[in-house]
Amino acid sequence: MRYISTRGTAPALTFEEAMLTGLARDGGLYVPEDIPTLTPTQIAAMAGKSYEEVAFDVMRPFIGDTFSDTQFQELIAKAYAGFGHAARAPLVQLAPNHFLLELFHGPTLAFKDFAMQLIGQMFQAALSRSGDRVTIVGATSGDTGSAAIEAFRGLSNVDVFILYPHGRVSEVQRRQMTTPSEANVHALAVDGDFDDCQAAVKDMFNDFSFREDVKLAGVNSINWGRVLAQVVYYFTAAVSLGAPHRKVSFTVPTGNFGDIFAGYIAKKMGLPIADLVVATNRNDILHRTLETGAYTKEGVTPTISPSMDIQVSSNFERALFYAYGGDGATVAAQMDDLKNGGFDISQGAFQMLQDTFKSGRASEDDTKAMIKSCRADSGELLCPHSAVGVHVAQAHLGATPMITLATAHPAKFPDAVKEASGEAAPLPPRMADLYERPERVTRVANDLAALQAVIKERI
Ligand SMILES: *Cc1c(COP(=O)(O)O)cnc(C)c1O
Repeated sequence: MRYISTRGTAPALTFEEAMLTGLARDGGLYVPEDIPTLTPTQIAAMAGKSYEEVAFDVMRPFIGDTFSDTQFQELIAKAYAGFGHAARAPLVQLAPNHFLLELFHGPTLAFKDFAMQLIGQMFQAALSRSGDRVTIVGATSGDTGSAAIEAFRGLSNVDVFILYPHGRVSEVQRRQMTTPSEANVHALAVDGDFDDCQAAVKDMFNDFSFREDVKLAGVNSINWGRVLAQVVYYFTAAVSLGAPHRKVSFTVPTGNFGDIFAGYIAKKMGLPIADLVVATNRNDILHRTLETGAYTKEGVTPTISPSMDIQVSSNFERALFYAYGGDGATVAAQMDDLKNGGFDISQGAFQMLQDTFKSGRASEDDTKAMIKSCRADSGELLCPHSAVGVHVAQAHLGATPMITLATAHPAKFPDAVKEASGEAAPLPPRMADLYERPERVTRVANDLAALQAVIKERI
């Protein structure tokens, strides 16, 4: 299995190389040259299997000979051992034909643990084989950073630097990044917003001498390994509702388009998915794009669902690549136009996107009202991101079962949840002392040279 860049000119890589590299050298994102498919019989055989067994079935065709079957099974087992629920991703019913996929039972209480815990294991296995040491630099709107730190803390061949927008993450998110005491963990609070942090990381990857110097590696949601790990729960959820014999739909609270793109891969692999619904908060560039065909940046407005406060949605580039039939040159040209504020998707590609993705948005009031009514109607206390999803899903309910992804635990956003529902959302007992642990963070200007200097000095 080879991986190619969405911009068409970077060299093709193996799974291991694509995973360790993150961003391609032409600025593009890696995608598999072909997407393997599973037959209905293979999908039907997943019924009743453990999460880990399905994870192996779904991901095995993508990893080539990076790991042996036995080693890959061991890595998967270690990745999910720390989850607080035996099903890993349990499905609960909200209403007739509407289900919630709880993706928040991992160590940092957000769905990003599914990918990050596995990436941590895969990095460690690959690096201890080669004897290399890498510097992981990532940008976060809150949850990626804590998930990455949790996955890499204490590993001997990795330094992990996480850039987050100062003052724009929740206290739980911040504390999950600033309280680990391991020397290889570095939380950097940047004076800027998430897009600034993400742009700084991209610029570091495009600075080839810095990239070589510090042996830069990326684990942001553009990393193919992360997208792949997220494909798994589309299968477990759909199969538990009767796939492949019955279709299901998914609604996904979206920012960087990673999670919803994993659903698209699941569909291309043969999982019978009817609708894939993109749910945005009022930072609705994806919803507007899917309505108009024009991808136009506006400013980012802070919301109570901060992990979706994004205007530059990195993984959307992968969807564009498929929409343009794999034409890397066109994708590269459109991404160039994005630097000047936006681009118009051509008619054919837009048609493909509209056929593949539905969308909707939730205002702040919609989100708060949904937290309150969902608690009253179903007993489920939603985090604000999941509430955006449930709100949008309600406009797309029909004869096909709808599964909305619950992307974080309500305790990660206690203030917003309390304000909307009147109820406190306590942390699970295993992290109840989070507010007492000492914090360690470096505040840095929104400036590439300053950030690079801090990184060089620390490693
Ligand atoms: C990251 C995140 C999202 C958005 O996921 P993408 O894959 O970037 O679209 C939604 N909700 C929560 C809680 C998150 O942490």
